[in-house]
Amino acid sequence: MPLVSPSLNGLRAFILDMDGVLYEGEAVLPGAVEFITRLQATGTPFLMLTNNAVRTPGQYVAKLARMGMSVAEDRIFTSALATADYLAGIAPGARVLVVGQDGLLDALRARGLTLVTHADDKPEFVVAGLDMTLTYDKLREATWAIRRGATFIASNPDVTYPTERGEAPGAGAVVAALQAASGVVPRVIGKPEPGIFAQVLARLGTAAQETAMVGDRMETDIVGGARAGLRTILVLTGVTREADLPHLPVQPDWVFPDLTALAAAWRKT
Ligand SMILES: [Mg+2]
Repeated sequence: MPLVSPSLNGLRAFILDMDGVLYEGEAVLPGAVEFITRLQATGTPFLMLTNNAVRTPGQYVAKLARMGMSVAEDRIFTSALATADYLAGIAPGARVLVVGQDGLLDALRARGLTLVTHADDKPEFVVAGLDMTLTYDKLREATWAIRRGATFIASNPDVTYPTERGEAPGAGAVVAALQAASGVVPRVIGKPEPGIFAQVLARLGTAAQETAMVGDRMETDIVGGARAGLRTILVLTGVTREADLPHLPVQPDWVFPDLTALAAAWRKT
């Protein structure tokens, strides 16, 4: 196990990816409950940060509760919230056509954006994310809106996400279909883009170099975290495997098999 740095001293806060770190599908991963309990017991600042824009923070709170983790809604930050904050900042009240689910729809509505469903409604933005209720109609309207000049925004770039039965198509796969049909490359909001990490750090109130990004996916969690100046911790319970490590463009600061091992190492510091 290539432990790049021997001690976790100096870490004051944690940002935790969810899929592949805390759970896989509906199955809780080893050490997740204990690690969250320990963060709470020690008063350590932490936020859960997911690129998945399908669920609302409230739905995540319920999902985590089913697995034995009791966290408040304001501990959850999603690429949907980041997308809504971004659009509300640059174009308050703008008309937005969404290819996505509750997480995106609720976040955009809550930030005062106007949701439309047809290209003829003249949306100023098309926001695309993972949509498990995706239809040809949605793809067609979004494609026409982009081709007519709407700015194309992707909530997150993940082409797949882990499930018990293997990697399933993610937001990036939906975005790729729209990109192919429209010929337009979207602006991406979620990890690994730096804006979302800046939003999370602002919420935590900690400096990047004393905050760790804990994730399972190299190209989003680790590359994005490192670029944002965060310390990075890779856990091997999700997408990136130990065998991938020699081939990675950036090495994480620490690698652990799971959160049980991370908690044990953190306890020793
Ligand atoms: Mg993940």
